[in-house]
Amino acid sequence: LDKLIAALARLPGVGRRSAERMAMKLVAGPGDLRDDLSAALQAVKEQVTACQRCGCATARTQNPCRLCVGPGRDDAVLCVVEDPSDIPLIERSGGFTGRYHALMGRIAPMKGEGPADLRLAALRSRIEQEGVREIILALATDVEGDATAAYICETLKGREVKITRLASGLPSGSAVRYSDPITLARALKGRQEA
Ligand SMILES: [Zn+2]
Repeated sequence: LDKLIAALARLPGVGRRSAERMAMKLVAGPGDLRDDLSAALQAVKEQVTACQRCGCATARTQNPCRLCVGPGRDDAVLCVVEDPSDIPLIERSGGFTGRYHALMGRIAPMKGEGPADLRLAALRSRIEQEGVREIILALATDVEGDATAAYICETLKGREVKITRLASGLPSGSAVRYSDPITLARALKGRQEA
C-alpha cells in the first residue's frame, strides 16, 4: 500500500493526501476498478510509447505518430509545448495545422529544472532537418514560461526561423491546458513575434 501511495503521489497534480485517498479507494472500492486500472496500465505499458519526434503518446506500431507523419499538415510550422498533454488541447482548438514538439518541461530554476532537462537538441535538429520556418511557442504566460521562451529565442539566434508566441488573451500565468478551444484558436491566430 505504501508503494502504491508513493507511486500515485509522483503523478502530476497529485499530492500525498490525494494519493492516499486514491489508494484507499482501490483497496476498499469495487474489485472491477482495480481490475480495469491494472489492465489499462498493462495495456499502456505494452502498446503505447512516446513519439520519438514530438513526444506525444502514440502506439508502438506507429512511431513517429500520426500528427508527425500524417498528410495535410504544414512541416514548416512547429508548435512548441511544455508538456505532451498540451497537444490534444491545441488539436481540439482546430486552429493549428502544423507539427508539434514537446519540451517535456520548462526552465524552472527554483525546482532545479534547467535547459538540459528539455528536448532542445531535438528541437534544433528538427529545425535543420525538417525545413522549419516558424516556431510557435505555446508556453505558459508566467515567469517560468517567459524564461523558457527567452532561452529558446537566444539559442536559436541567427537561424532562419521566425519565432512567435501565442497572443495574449490566455489568462495570465496559465498554460495551454487551462484555456478553452476558442481562446486557444484565437491566441494561435493572433500570435506575435517573440
Ligand atoms: Zn509525433
